[in-house]
Amino acid sequence: MAGRTLETLPFDNSYARLPDAFYAKLNPTTFSSPSYLVSFNPAAAALIDLDPSEAKRPEFAGVFGGGMLAPGMDPLAMVYSGHQFGVYVPQLGDGRAILLGEVKSDRGDRWDLHLKGAGLTPFSRDGDGRAVLRSTIREYLCCVAMQGLGIPTTQALCIVGSDDKIYREQIETGAMLLRMAPSHVRFGTFEIFYYRKQHEELKVLADYVIDQHFPHLRLAGDRYGRFFAEVVERTAKLIAQWQAVGWAHGVMNTDNMSILGLTLDYGPFGFMDDYDAGFICNHSDHNGRYAFNQQPYIGLWNLSCLAQTLLPLAEKDVLKAGLDMYTPLFEQEYLKRMRAKLGLQEERAEDDELIRDFLGLLQESHADYTIVFRELGTFSSNPGAPNERLREHFLNRDRFDEWAARYGARVRGECSRDDERSVRMNEVNPRYVLRNYLAQTAIEKAQQKDFSEIERLLTLLQSPYSEHPGMESYAAPPPNWGKHLAVSCSS
Ligand code: AMP
Ligand code: MG
Repeated sequence: MAGRTLETLPFDNSYARLPDAFYAKLNPTTFSSPSYLVSFNPAAAALIDLDPSEAKRPEFAGVFGGGMLAPGMDPLAMVYSGHQFGVYVPQLGDGRAILLGEVKSDRGDRWDLHLKGAGLTPFSRDGDGRAVLRSTIREYLCCVAMQGLGIPTTQALCIVGSDDKIYREQIETGAMLLRMAPSHVRFGTFEIFYYRKQHEELKVLADYVIDQHFPHLRLAGDRYGRFFAEVVERTAKLIAQWQAVGWAHGVMNTDNMSILGLTLDYGPFGFMDDYDAGFICNHSDHNGRYAFNQQPYIGLWNLSCLAQTLLPLAEKDVLKAGLDMYTPLFEQEYLKRMRAKLGLQEERAEDDELIRDFLGLLQESHADYTIVFRELGTFSSNPGAPNERLREHFLNRDRFDEWAARYGARVRGECSRDDERSVRMNEVNPRYVLRNYLAQTAIEKAQQKDFSEIERLLTLLQSPYSEHPGMESYAAPPPNWGKHLAVSCSS
């Protein structure tokens, strides 16, 4: 039923029924100045059968601005810990987010309604429990962008703003983001019980996650090992997809790693403009721990942290075997995605090298990752075809010609037609991604209370593979001011 109101959303709060050790129950704290709706995402509302006209009611900004509860909500802050930049921090937890409750849709799937920026919790440590409008817009738009690209992600329902002042490097305004996911359990949720030696709770958590999200494993005798193997697979595939679109997560700490293999917790993140394998999207990441080309390895590192927590439940050898699957799974998925980006349908041994050499050319030419891959769809495989527009992106034209000859031969070798290949490539090489400068423009307008740019990007990013007539400029490389915007952990 697509017509649910705030009052008739059916809540079934399974997490709130877990033992007390899993959370602190508390209500959100609303802003001190009035709240107003900044943006609403009807596609996310449809996931919970919420009538989109509900967004027009003042109660909507009331509920998702933390000022009132809808019937059936049972709010709580989840506890977890995690490895931050490689160092174990014994307790983190939702320091500024509150799980309002879980809605069960008519299709039977379950969605956490998680309100970020909802005030202090027992896990706030030195923080103020708030989120700024800037980072909220970035997370909101990137959830939409990832979903549009077909990459597993949390979803974003709405942003509610206020004129409350928030102190970061500068004074900013506060906002709340309503985020949705089938679960917000992280690797760090397992870590806290393991390191506290609460093995009973650890088992409750593992059984809960399996019961809710891996139901086919419920009755399996070796369920914990198999569960881990599935998390390995999801994580490997997720990171391969990030890599294929040239996207990096700026804070791949284990507390930001979803147990469901979703992209979770968008703080500093970035789509690359110019291709750079060493791209660091987080200004605060001085050592480049989470540099673009480190992310596949960090995925493995994080999974080994998770494996450690499962030692009380599964055989060491089984967990080790699960971890050993990561690299081949990642490589297989990455190669599959990159072959598709090159429009190749058959698998050939030389493909790996063809792809690597192309990336090498992009790197030395500082060529725009998204634009060049899209342009590659226009490649003519006729021997001797000049492919002028594509060629212009490369500094060393001879090296490009040499590569293009190999690529042309490879394409002809599988008898693909250029026009058909072009259509296929446009389905996997996005025309539009959420470049930092596009997000920045939407943020600056929103800070002046003009939310129109958020709406424009919302529509655009929902179908990033399509042409949007009149919006060509959104596919352009960044202007000079937007090339190296510093994005830090401060949010
Ligand atoms: P993050 O790096 O955003 O994933 O956050 C790491 C931890 O810091 C989590 O426990 C967050 O809830 C907490 N945190 C981040 N910002 C704030 C804030 N402004 N107030 C309270 N807790 C915060
Ligand atoms: Mg986090």
